[in-house]
Amino acid sequence: ELREWQRALRAQFPIITAHPEPAYLDSAATAQKPQAVLDLVHTYLTTTNANAGRGIYTWANRTTTLVEQARDRVKRFLDDPAPERSAVHFTSGTTEGLRTIARDWLPGLLADGDEIVVPVADHEANIAPWLEAQRQLARQGVHIHVRPMPYQQASGDYDHAALTESAGPRTRFVAATHVHHVYGGNMNIHRIRRAVGPDAVICLDAAQSVGHLPVSVADLDVDFVVFSGHKAMALPGTGAVWARQSRGPEFMPGGWSGTPNTVGIASLATALDWLDAAGTDRIEQWTVALAARLTDGLRHLDAYEILGCRTSLAADSSVQQRQGVVTFRHRAIDSGDLGFILFSHGFMVRSDQHCQGGAGERTGSVRVSLHVYNTAEEIDRLLAVLATLG
Ligand code: PMP
Repeated sequence: ELREWQRALRAQFPIITAHPEPAYLDSAATAQKPQAVLDLVHTYLTTTNANAGRGIYTWANRTTTLVEQARDRVKRFLDDPAPERSAVHFTSGTTEGLRTIARDWLPGLLADGDEIVVPVADHEANIAPWLEAQRQLARQGVHIHVRPMPYQQASGDYDHAALTESAGPRTRFVAATHVHHVYGGNMNIHRIRRAVGPDAVICLDAAQSVGHLPVSVADLDVDFVVFSGHKAMALPGTGAVWARQSRGPEFMPGGWSGTPNTVGIASLATALDWLDAAGTDRIEQWTVALAARLTDGLRHLDAYEILGCRTSLAADSSVQQRQGVVTFRHRAIDSGDLGFILFSHGFMVRSDQHCQGGAGERTGSVRVSLHVYNTAEEIDRLLAVLATLG
C-alpha cells in the first residue's frame, strides 16, 4: 500500500520522471519540486505578481494576502498551539534564519555572565552565528560563556549527560539541530528541555526535518524553529523562522518591510499543503525504510564505514532513529573520487565535506539523502555498484 502511495507521489515530480537516471540522492542539499509547486509559480507569475504590503490594487492585495496566508500555513504545518502569539519571518534559508536570530534577537536576551549552549558537530550555519554573537557582545563589555554541546557517535545523539552536567541557572539559550545533516540521527529534543529547564530558549535547526517527518512545536516545546523552504519542496532561496515569542524580546517587532520573495513565499505555502496532503508521517516511514535498506546493505560490505549511529538501530532504544540520511566512506577510495565514480554509474550524491563545523568529520565522506520520490530500486542499484568497488 505504501508502495502504491509512493508511486503516485513520485509521478508528481517532473524532473524525476523526465530523468529517472542519474538517481537524485541529494535531497539534504535541496529537494525537488512537485507539479503543484510548479503550477503555483506559473499561475502566480501570470496572474498575480506584485509587491506585497502596499497595494491599493487587486494584484498587490492578493500578493499581500498570499504572504499572510503563508505565515498562517507555516504555523499550522508546525502544529502551533498558540498562533495568535507566535511570529513567522521569511528568509532565504536556514542559514539566514539562524543568523537573523543571532544578530537581531539573541543580544536582547543575554546579560553579562549568561551562558549559551552551542553544538560542536552540527552544520556550520548552527555554530558560527552564535559564536559571532558572543564576540559582538564581548566588544560591548557583555561576556557570555559558550558551553559546547558534544555529539555522541554511539547513540547518534547529543551527549545529554554532558549537557545536564554543564547546564545551570544562567543557561539562557540552546542551539540544537533536529535531524543531523551528516549522521541522520533524530536528536532527542525533549532531553535537551529536561536538561536546561523550562525557562531556557531552545532554537531548533529543522533544516533536515521539516518536510521529512512531522514537526510539532507543541510536542517539542521549543522557542524557535528554523528551516529551509527549498529543502521542503518550495523554490530555491526560501526559508522561515517560527518564533514562539514567550521568552525574551519580541522577534522582529514591527513586522516586515522591503520587498519579500513573494513567489518563493507563495511556493512555500503550496509545498507545505502538498507535504501535509502526502502525510509527513508516511514520508518519514518511507525514507527511514530506504535508509535502513541502505545501512543494512552497507553493513555487509567490509570496504565501507557508516558514519553516525554505530549500533543496530532497532535493538537499542537509547540510539536515535536514523532518518533519510546515510553517510559513509570507503576504506581505500577517496570520498571525492567515490562521488565521481557514483555519478558515472548514475547516482547524484554529496561527497567530500558537508559544511560540518567545529568537531565535525574532516576526512570526507559520501552522503546519500532521501526523499519521498526515491525508491528501493535506486537503493538496490546503488548497493550493487558499491559492492563492485569493495
Ligand atoms: N542546517 C542544516 C542542518 C542543514 O542541513 C543545512 C543545509 N545543508 C543548513 C543548516 C543550511 O541551509 P540553507 O542552505 O538553506 O541556508
